[in-house]
Formats: sequence, C-alpha cells, structure tokens
Amino acid sequence: MTYTETHAGPVRTTCPYCGVGCGVLATPTASDGDPAHPANRGRLCGKGMALHETLGHETRLLHPRVDGAQAGWDAALDRVAGAFRSTIARHGPDSVALYVSGQLLTEDYYAANKLAKGFLGTANIDSNSRLCMSSAVAGHIRAFGQDVVPVGYDDLCGADLAVLSGSNAAWCHPVLFQRMEAAGVPYVVIDPRRTPTCEGAALHLPLRPGSDVALWNGLLSHLARTVPCDLTLPGAAEAVAAATSTVAGTAAACDLDPADVAAFFGLFARTERVVTLFSQGVNQSSSGTDKVNAIINAHLLTGRIGGGAGPFSITGQPNAMGGREVGALSNLLAGHLSFDHAPDLEALRAFWSAPNLVAGPGRKAVDLFRAIGCGQVRAVWIMGTNPAVSLPDSAAVRAALAACPFVAVSDCADGTDTLAHAHVALPALAWGERDGTVTNSERVISRQRPFMAPAGEARADWRIVAGVAARLGFGAAFAWTGSHEVFDEHARLTGLATGRRRVFDISGLAGMTRAAYDAMDPVRWPVPLAPAAEDVFAAGYPTADGRPRLVPLRHRAPANAVSAAFPWRLSTGRLRDQWHTMTRTGLSPRLMRHYPEPFVAVHPDAAGGMADGTLAVVGTAHGSATLRVRHDAGMRPGDLFVPMHWTDRFASAGRVNAAVNAAVDPISGQPEFKHTPAALAAFPVTWSGSVLARGPLDLGWAEWRACWPMAGGVWRCELAGTGAPEAAFARARAAAEGTGNWTVLRDPGAGTFSAVRLREGVLQAAVTLASGPGAPGSGTPARDWLASRFAAAALSPGDRRALLAGRNAAGEPASPTICSCHGVSRAAILGARAAGSVGLAAIGAATKAGTGCGSCRPEISALLRVAPA
Ligand code: SF4
Repeated sequence: MTYTETHAGPVRTTCPYCGVGCGVLATPTASDGDPAHPANRGRLCGKGMALHETLGHETRLLHPRVDGAQAGWDAALDRVAGAFRSTIARHGPDSVALYVSGQLLTEDYYAANKLAKGFLGTANIDSNSRLCMSSAVAGHIRAFGQDVVPVGYDDLCGADLAVLSGSNAAWCHPVLFQRMEAAGVPYVVIDPRRTPTCEGAALHLPLRPGSDVALWNGLLSHLARTVPCDLTLPGAAEAVAAATSTVAGTAAACDLDPADVAAFFGLFARTERVVTLFSQGVNQSSSGTDKVNAIINAHLLTGRIGGGAGPFSITGQPNAMGGREVGALSNLLAGHLSFDHAPDLEALRAFWSAPNLVAGPGRKAVDLFRAIGCGQVRAVWIMGTNPAVSLPDSAAVRAALAACPFVAVSDCADGTDTLAHAHVALPALAWGERDGTVTNSERVISRQRPFMAPAGEARADWRIVAGVAARLGFGAAFAWTGSHEVFDEHARLTGLATGRRRVFDISGLAGMTRAAYDAMDPVRWPVPLAPAAEDVFAAGYPTADGRPRLVPLRHRAPANAVSAAFPWRLSTGRLRDQWHTMTRTGLSPRLMRHYPEPFVAVHPDAAGGMADGTLAVVGTAHGSATLRVRHDAGMRPGDLFVPMHWTDRFASAGRVNAAVNAAVDPISGQPEFKHTPAALAAFPVTWSGSVLARGPLDLGWAEWRACWPMAGGVWRCELAGTGAPEAAFARARAAAEGTGNWTVLRDPGAGTFSAVRLREGVLQAAVTLASGPGAPGSGTPARDWLASRFAAAALSPGDRRALLAGRNAAGEPASPTICSCHGVSRAAILGARAAGSVGLAAIGAATKAGTGCGSCRPEISALLRVAPA
C-alpha cells in the first residue's frame, strides 16, 4: 500500500514548525500524526498536536494595506512594483533587497529567488535560515563540494552511538529525539547547559561556550593516534597536524573533566556507526563553520560517513532545506548551481530567459540590514518573517526599517513588530491554506496541502511575487497557473546539464500533472536515486577529484569576550512549546502553559543573591531585557540562558535579541546568538501582581508586564512596578473594567489589594496586587485553579473568599505546568512521587503526565531524579 492510498478523511499535510517535518493528518478541529509519513510514523510533539488550536483569524492579516489603509490587491502590488522600479532606476539593482523565510514553501522561495537574481538583477535576497543553519551549509560545501546532508533519521535511529552536539533535541526536535530514544540508541550530549536532552544521555559534556573546535580537534588528534585513519584524504594530514592535542589539553581548553573527555573519545573511537546530530548550538557562532567542519573532519578521517554513520545537520525551520535547494540565500544559486562555475550561470540565464542575471553573491542577513540602516539598500520586501524581533541587535534593525524609504511585508500574521514599519502589507496564506512542498532535514520532500479556505484576501506568496513581476514587465517568466507548475519548473532546473555533477537533482519529479502533484508521496532526493546508492556519496563526492576535504582548524574564541562591565555569557535558544516569535504558538493556551513568562536561567549558586522568581535586567552593549529569574542547576556558573520567543505583544521587555551582539561567522554570515557578554542586575520593584480578565488587557502603563492567553478567552497578565501599590491597583482594576460589580479587599498596612468582578455570579475579572517583588503564584492563586474558576458557571462563596485572600480554595500551591497535553503541574507530579509512584510509567498512570505527546518526559525524569523519595 502506498503512502497516498493509506489514508482517507483528514488532509495529509506537513507540520509547519521544526525541521523534523512530521506528517500531519489535519482537519480544522484536529491534528494527528500521520502513521505513514517516514519522518514521524504517527508521532507528533505538543506543538504539532496543538496545530488546530492556532488556526483562528484573530491575529491574521486579512487585507492588503498601503500606508496603513486597507487597499485592493492591484493598488498594493502596483505600489510594490513602482517602488522597486524607481529605486532600481535611481540607485541600481543592489539598492533593493528581499528578506525571506524558512517558513515559506519551496514554490514561494523559488519564485522570490527567481525574481531577485534573474529579473531585478540583485543577489540581495537572504533568508532567516541564515540565522539557523548557514554555517552547516558552508561546512558542507567546504567538505563535500556541495550542500548535502549525508544521513537521515533511520541512520540516527540505527546508530550504535549518537553524539548530540549543540542540540537540545528533546525540546527542539522532539519527535526525532523520541524516535532515537525508543530505538535505544546510546548518546552523548555536548552542550554548556544541562538541558532535558541530557536526561537519558550516557555522557554529558558541559563544555565552555564556544570551545567546540577545541573538543573536536582533540578527538581528531586522539583518533589519528588510536584508530585506522585515511590520512591520504585531501587536507587530512594538515587537519591532524593543526588539531594536535591531548585529553588533558582538550579538557583544559573546554573546561571539562578529563575523565569525561577520555570517555567521549573512547566511545567515539570504539564505535563504527556514529551519527553526530548538530544544530544551532554549533551553527550560531562566529566560528560556526569551523565547528561544523571540526565535526565532519572526525567522521571523514575515520570513514564514519556512509553505511549509517555521518554528520547530521538538523535544521530549525520546516523548509530551511527547501530554501537551500532553490538558492534563496544570497550566496547560493537555484538548484545548487554555483556562482563559481561559469557554465552554471550561463545555463541558468538561458533556462530562465533572465534579462538581469546576477554575477555574484549578495548581502547576508546582518549585513543586509546594516546596508538598509546606512541607506545603501532603499527598498526591501520581507516575506514571512519578523526580523525586527529575530535578528541580533534588533533595535538597530528597527531603526533601519524605520528609516528605509520603502518597506513591503508579506505575512499571514498581523500586528508583528516588522509590519509596524511596512508601507505596504500583503496578506499571505497560512498553514492549512497553503499548497506546495517543503523539504525536511533528511532531504525528504513532502506536500503541504490546504484544508481551509484562504482567510480574507490572503494569497500564496508565489502568486504575490508573480503579481509584482508582471507589473515590472516580467509576466511571461512568472505565468504559472498553480503551485504544481512552479514545482515543475524547479524540478526541471535541477536537471540542467552544466558539465558539473550536482547531487541535488529532482528532475525525476518533473512533468507531474496537477493530480500527480496533489497525490505526491514524501520522497527523498536525489530523484531518481542512483541504482544501489543507499549512500548519497556512493558515486563519489561532488568535488573536482571526487574526494571530500578535511579542513585544518584552530580554536577561535567567541567574537566578544566577557569584561568587568559585562561578566556573564548570554546564550539564547528555544523552548519546548513555542515557535519563533509566537505568532502562532502564542494563540494556544495549552502551549502557553509551559513557560508563560520570559525568563533568564542562571545557576542558583552564582545568581548573586537574586532569588528564584524575582525580576532581573539582562543588559549588554546593545540593549536589555527584563526577565523572571529562574534558578537552574544545569547552567554553568557565569552563563545565562534566555528564550528567544517573546515580543512586545506578550511581554513589555522580553525581546532578548535586542541585547544579542551582531557578530557573525566570517564565512557563513551566521550570527553568534550563543555568546554575548552581558550584565545581570536585579530589577527593583515596589509592587507586583496579576490581572485576569475575559479578553486581552491594555496594560502598557506597567513598567513590567507579561501576558498570555488561557482557556476560554481569558487573559492573564503578571505586572510589576516601582510606584505606589495602591495606585497600580487602581489602574489594574480600570484596565479590567467591564460589566458586573467589583468586590474589593484592601489592606494597605499589609500591602495587599484584591478585587474580583462578578456578573450574575460568574467571574469576569480578578486583580491581586501586593507590595514587594513577588513571583507568579506567590500571594496569588494558582493559575490553573484560577482558570477553572473562570470556566465555572458560578463562583461559590468559598471560591470568592479564597480569591480575595489570594489563595486557592483547595489550598494547592501555585506550580508550573510540566505536561501541556494533560495540564499536569510540577506539584502534582511531585505529589504522585511522594505518594509512592516511582518511574515515568507510574507517574503517567497516577497523573497522566507524559502520556500525551511525550515531549515532557525528560523534564519529568529530571524532576524524579532530584525529588525526595
Ligand atoms: Fe512539528 Fe517538529 Fe513537533 Fe514534528 S517534531 S510535530 S515537525 S514541531
């Protein structure tokens, strides 16, 4: 039975979040894992299971806007085309740019790249994938000759050893991590933080941030001394000579226990079938490309590539790989054609009938926004991404956009920080409406299929691009009638003969009818696969001599060193239940329960006396964020970790990328999100509290706030400030005003203020304030209990008394949610443990925690590890 024949009913589509690329059986009211999809085989993580909760139109961009006013499509597209035409006429083609996204479908990506590089005449098109995996791309090209990921998920799950380097896979790629764990693969984690991924690890190496090359060089040196190696490979002898180190020297360079280093070296040396999974912890560095090649060096030198072994770059975004395929990074060309091979350029010019084909690379993301800031780029079109939040030094990005003469933004979401700078806003289709393909981390191309009508006047991105192209006089080259025709052109292009073998070849998928495209099963490239070529390099590497290259490397410290003024090392990253800047996951109360507030994680012994749950300012030379302090014994003393998801929509000062340095890798251009020198100081407050109401709250006056949606349309905001508590209480009540009557309790002497507003016995709003710093739950009822009171048909006298007293009727303490699927709190899990439940299965039976998507199991294991019996 084929994949296509297996299922009827729900639409078979692909998850729009991480690079695992799980198959989803989707309807507007349910999201289930597709048992027939090779990536997930029926599993979904919490984000995938909540997809149907994020389909509402409440935050959608529904109509085109020009200069802030609703406009028709013709007027909007005319304005974009006119701005680009006049800017190019006055300042040349490199005065315009496109900034696109790994969220786009391959067809959208293809159209945008074709317009920029073939017709506008600029290579200034870059993707937010630059922030995610461009170091891996550069490393692949240096080692293999082309950007090819040589292994896949079955290799990882069939490995005798997995090395997870700079990857919190348990949170960032949960389904793949769960598959690996279920297969019983022993694994080593290399990460400065003890993340949930470390729970089941055979070994965790908490290395000094940025010292990866020293560790992998040490391993290379050890391997060269202890196992058979191919020193005839190009660069091998030089790489080994450059790497020379001992176990003790490596341990000192990486600030690791020598016994752990020796154990890792021994494990790698003894195991043939090793897969090294690496991700942003490796890539997001000013030496990211070197780190990638350091990993690849160890695999190449010992022949641990092919036959189920190899280095495995896993992408953050759902279609980062598709963007690489169509060349939508400024240094790439479509179809893995190369700027360095003149026949490639000539073939592409002829294939596209391109009047203005570019001759060389354009600006990479950070450089591109700097060029906007200094007026070299004067018109930019941003598609499906939010650089005003996601780029490092984002305050400078906002200033650049504010000063840019013309900004167009295509997005499915309204109200993003970037849209605030748009002269033209173009509504794009969202997941559930889109029709095209994506490619996941293991080179599998899958269909995203629509199961909902477009919201408002939203259009496919490729169609929007074609509309602008037509107005610029290029209509004939963009005259596709459907996404299948875009895909067909892309597939045909990959088969162009240019005298240079390209591994990325899907010309076998060219010529599909609309029906065949609609029914297309997930397929791994190249297509067709060479006969008997299980390994993608079985026919040789795509280099001049058919051999791969090792790169001689030396450790380089991060771009900016800590100092007396900025003594902390700030790293940013992702949370389990959030995605990017929360434009979608922020719509799901279930997903918001895990970590509803922005926080800074710090080792409790090195927190400088700052208590868990208080507020602190993380400041750098670029900006600052004000965050809830979270003690985490898994942090290295001296390091800070802050999640990168929060925007102004959900918190007043949670945008940590405003504080991240904009240092980049000199080869890949990838920013160094994992190392910014920072200061940490307490945020002094005189009052703190919370407000709940039936609908979003306008609390912009609060010096600090974090807001999130709860079940039933209820919003909760945590607030803090430095003025008089009673005045803040009055303003908070005013913000939560509405129908019904307030019942108010004040005790200024004790510094506590509470009020609930009821209408016909049903809770409408609740305000609780107290003097002092406070924390979620201290002096306020537990959020789950509060939400349940909002859901109640009527509030009992006991509940009302409890609310006003700032406690739960049941007396249960506030406790964070660990299992989002079943809403199980940390306190409930610890309670079950105290009552005698031992182990994950027993806790699951007692509380249901961990019995949904399974993404919380590592956190439950961590809790049980330290919980008293
Ligand atoms: Fe989506 Fe990634 Fe979760 Fe799969 S693992 S359901 S692709 S977020």
